[in-house]
Amino acid sequence: MVGLVLVSHSKRLAESVRDMLLQMTSPNFPVAVASGAGAEHEQLGTDAIHISETLQKLSRPDGLLVLMDLGSAVLSAEAALELLDLCPEMRIRLCAAPLVEGAIAAAVQANGGGSLEEVAREAERGLAGKEQQLKRKGDIAATLRTSSRPSLVAETSELVLTVRNKHGLHTRPAAALVRVVSKFASSVEIANMRSGQGSASARSLTSLALLEIRQGDQIRVLASGNDRDAALEAIRELADRDFDEPLQAASSPQVLRNAAATSSQETRNSKVGGIPGSNGISIGPLCVLEPLMRVSDDRPSGDPAAELRKLDLAMKDVELELSPEKHSSSPLTLGSEILEAQALILSDPALCEQLRSRLENPRTSAARAWLDAMRDLGTQYQSMDDPYLRERSTDVWDIARRVLHRLRATNHLPAVRLDRPSIVFANELLPSEAVECDPATVLGVITREGSATSHSTILLRTLGIPAVLGASGIDEHAAGKTVALDGGTGEIWIEPDQQSLSILQARRQEFLERENRAKAERSRPSTTLDGERIEILANIGSAVDARIAAENGAEGVGVLRTESAFLQHSSAPSEEEQTLSLRQVFARIDGPIIVRTLDVGADKPLRFFPQREEHNPYLGVRGIRLCLQSPALFLSQLRAILRSGVGHDIWLMFPMVSTVAEVDEALHMVDQAHHELTVAGRRHVWPIKRGAMIEVPAAALMSKWLAEKLDFFSIGTNDLTQYVMAAERGNVSLAGLQDSLHPALLHLIRAVIHGAKSHKRHVSVCGDAASDPLSAMTFVGLGVRSLSVRPKQVAEIKSLFRFLKMADLEQLAGDSLRCSNAAQVRILAKERLNAISNRNRNPQYYPYPIGG
Ligand code: PEP
Ligand code: MG
Repeated sequence: MVGLVLVSHSKRLAESVRDMLLQMTSPNFPVAVASGAGAEHEQLGTDAIHISETLQKLSRPDGLLVLMDLGSAVLSAEAALELLDLCPEMRIRLCAAPLVEGAIAAAVQANGGGSLEEVAREAERGLAGKEQQLKRKGDIAATLRTSSRPSLVAETSELVLTVRNKHGLHTRPAAALVRVVSKFASSVEIANMRSGQGSASARSLTSLALLEIRQGDQIRVLASGNDRDAALEAIRELADRDFDEPLQAASSPQVLRNAAATSSQETRNSKVGGIPGSNGISIGPLCVLEPLMRVSDDRPSGDPAAELRKLDLAMKDVELELSPEKHSSSPLTLGSEILEAQALILSDPALCEQLRSRLENPRTSAARAWLDAMRDLGTQYQSMDDPYLRERSTDVWDIARRVLHRLRATNHLPAVRLDRPSIVFANELLPSEAVECDPATVLGVITREGSATSHSTILLRTLGIPAVLGASGIDEHAAGKTVALDGGTGEIWIEPDQQSLSILQARRQEFLERENRAKAERSRPSTTLDGERIEILANIGSAVDARIAAENGAEGVGVLRTESAFLQHSSAPSEEEQTLSLRQVFARIDGPIIVRTLDVGADKPLRFFPQREEHNPYLGVRGIRLCLQSPALFLSQLRAILRSGVGHDIWLMFPMVSTVAEVDEALHMVDQAHHELTVAGRRHVWPIKRGAMIEVPAAALMSKWLAEKLDFFSIGTNDLTQYVMAAERGNVSLAGLQDSLHPALLHLIRAVIHGAKSHKRHVSVCGDAASDPLSAMTFVGLGVRSLSVRPKQVAEIKSLFRFLKMADLEQLAGDSLRCSNAAQVRILAKERLNAISNRNRNPQYYPYPIGG
């Protein structure tokens, strides 16, 4: 019989559902609860390890169906599957059905002997009965009326946060906030403390956007309701994770413009240009894309209730069209995130409220009310000071267009369909148009508006369609003419002559070959032209990262941030739990795995291990200092690492080391863990290589002494930079001081290499800078032969060194040490990379945009 696993944020809720199922089926029906967080799973939340253990325990030949409630429950269930390393006979399916209705329908079906597929299908239809019963058209108004009013509860809690995201709280981070808030019943309001704007409901994407929250702004979050503290905690965690957006967003237009300025100029004829948007060279006939949304609908209005129903249906259809399920097969993860964020505009209570009043007063048609409301919203975005937020108006036009097409009963959107492969010219490309572009027919895109950071551009980059934006000197009159563009430099040629055409075709061919080679060669070692081998490892924090690293050709792991798995835990993970979690990660990696012991404190506090308040936590009890002060915690982790490491090439690394005495103490603890395991007769890996992160200037300067005791070093440029420059990492107003290419850092890195060499120790760099091509080149020039980079960047950095010579890199490093600031080093590295690229014209040209 198929079994069911219930994953809910609330253990009590899941247990009640289980009780109902048992009553409806039989007391022996196979159902298990994997819900809640914390030691007894009594807290609200979900826990991937708990879920994976439950799945393992309930595992049965006919399979398991997993039903989840919202948000992180789904993420945790997915992570649990990652942890499980499924063997073919373990059939497990995650089901999109609603928890209660789905579980009941599924249990009845399973109890009757249904197959896993039948049970899942039945669960997915679980809402049908309820929908039938409640089928009342026009219920949107009622829903909106209640959803837009915050529940009035006297007690309020408050939280002040600083937004660090590069573009402030723009659509995607704001959507993440709306998603988190939507998990709680409490009313949550946000105010921008810089501008005094607000407060606005945190359930409304548009209201949030209108607060114009920029990078560095402080926001006040007020919550009232029974679960207000949990809501604030979840928001704080989200803000700590930068609203689930990587802080280093796409390259800025400025950087890309620089690239254009240095591009070669050997082709001629009618060359115009714009901002480089998406790398690659295309040649083809120009096809002008008509503006798709003609905004006029003055048909007489109908009955307001009927118009509201029409609008409600159209909006719901579009919401469905944008739902993740519709896009789950798409390779565009980022694309589906953007579409999801757009969908939130549709469910925004403030917008819906406005639509209703437009329809009633004065009477107007659904289309007119919709267009007017969206025009107002788009105009509000367009008048914002922040250029990034201004760009978000395209999302509004896009949604406006989709709903309008529905209202006009057009069944599908006019996709970007071309009679023959062409380069598309448009005033502006909307994200929904970008997502519909088929790289087989859309050879390239040129737009008059737009920028390198717009959603459409991000989508085109993901699809691999070359693009030039903000183009001038080209218009509709060029329709049908042969046009060429270089998306990496921003150059455009109208009707290039034969000579230019052949140069461009050759350039295009080179580009494609380079790109394909980097992808195809991800499993090949990275070796410079003169035969120097550069090891490329990955920085990981989870089994999912481990999988991505392996897929991108990582030769091992340069740092496993062990704290990542436990930062959210509200009670200390047991040794068993740690061992299980580490095993799941190790199983995915071939090659050496550098496991860093807990690095908590400062920016990474442990919930289950509250520390005393410190004036300056970055200079406080963190990393190895904390572990040495908490021997039980440290020993349990050391035992777990040694136990899980059996059969793997595990290296043990201590973070935040500043003195030789700390290393002595830590090594003593490692010996003790080994001794305890031996006495207990537990299998474990031994002997083991031991090393230290070099991220405190004292350790860098003492590396020769540390090398006497240790087998390897890994340079953590993130912390080393903050300590050398006395500029707290993450403090955006000090961004100018946080460049790891500052000569002060380079001198220290050289000192570490010398220190390590005296005892022939292995040195790698695992700070984020290793993922930046210019920094990676400079570090290798200084003598580093191992880099640990972001999992997705492994293939890219590997390919970088395949067309470089050590002599060039050493010269670059030598010259960099003579520079007086980071900007000079960057310019130098960029110039050298371009010079080498031009010198080695074919075939060794670096295929990626040069950021920084
Ligand atoms: C570093 O400091 O460079 C490093 C890799 O460690 P973390 O970013 O985890 O502090
Ligand atoms: Mg660090």
